[in-house]
Amino acid sequence: MQSLTLAQIRASFVNTSRREATQATPPQDLSTVEWDSLELFGWSDPRSPQRAYVIIPTQHAKAKDGVVGIMLRAVPAPPRQAMCALCEDITQVSDVKMFSAKMAGSAGRNGDTLGTMIHADFSCSTHARRFPSRLEGQDDPQAFIAARTDRLREHAERFALRVLGV
Ligand SMILES: [Zn+2]
Repeated sequence: MQSLTLAQIRASFVNTSRREATQATPPQDLSTVEWDSLELFGWSDPRSPQRAYVIIPTQHAKAKDGVVGIMLRAVPAPPRQAMCALCEDITQVSDVKMFSAKMAGSAGRNGDTLGTMIHADFSCSTHARRFPSRLEGQDDPQAFIAARTDRLREHAERFALRVLGV
């Protein structure tokens, strides 16, 4: 994805109040983020562990600067293994959480939310780039990884558009 500034990140949120967007500060120095190897950028709020944020690229006209920022809330649940709906990795299933997102606009103000399973540390881009297992076919690892990163991009964008209600 393209590199982003803190101002662009704060301006991208579609389901927060202005105050919530201002309070959303990434936990790491944005200049050290390897944007080229990310299909999405997400983090948990260090001050409020149930809260998390994810920034997803899309060329949809409603997206500012080509990205949609979504505030998420982790839904408390007993730990269990689950597949992440974004990267769909079948080997990394232990750190996947149910997150709920308030929908954008009037739907969100009326209390509508969307739920989805996502890697709790938003490491989906790393999982999409893992080397294939023998069963998955190791003749062409580059093609395997390209197909998986494409799928991750699609799933993430679809989620962002659902939150936008388009
Ligand atoms: Zn994932």
